[in-house]
Amino acid sequence: MKRAIFPGSFDPFTIGHYDIVLRGLTLFDEIIIGVGVNPSKKSLFPVEKRLSIIEQAFANEPRVKAMQYNSLTIDFAQAEEASYILRGIRTVGDFEYERTTADNNQKLSGIETVVLFTDTKYASISSTIVRDLITYEKDISRFLPPNVSL
Ligand code: ADP
Repeated sequence: MKRAIFPGSFDPFTIGHYDIVLRGLTLFDEIIIGVGVNPSKKSLFPVEKRLSIIEQAFANEPRVKAMQYNSLTIDFAQAEEASYILRGIRTVGDFEYERTTADNNQKLSGIETVVLFTDTKYASISSTIVRDLITYEKDISRFLPPNVSL
């Protein structure tokens, strides 16, 4: 059984995140989407809403579940008996961050990070852009996974 966690803030979960999970399901038997709760990081969506968006998106996919966590990512992965961390990379900036984090996580826990490169269709989509548009009351449905309503 190959189980991965896909950790992130997911404030909110976008169609870019959704695509990484769908593609990850070709590599892993199960993916646990871990919504990280960091009290020092201000979020727009409360954690319950962030989880419910993910649950709506994967309502018909029993191999995906959503959980919140407030520990170190490697401790969360170990508690859930996951041997892999899944992450997505859009830019050189993402690459630098993911490389150092994956290196530290591997040295600290032995857990390997598997990165998938963004589909170019979604390369410019970020939770930050979605939050900005919401602030100005714009329609953001095209940035959300299918079958999700806020
Ligand atoms: P974090 O705060 O941990 O970076 P995010 O919720 O912003 O969490 O992102 C979670 C993961 O999804 C990260 O690996 C990020 O690079 C990746 N990601 C975000 N948006 C996209 C996208 N449009 N395409 C591919 N990967 C993405």
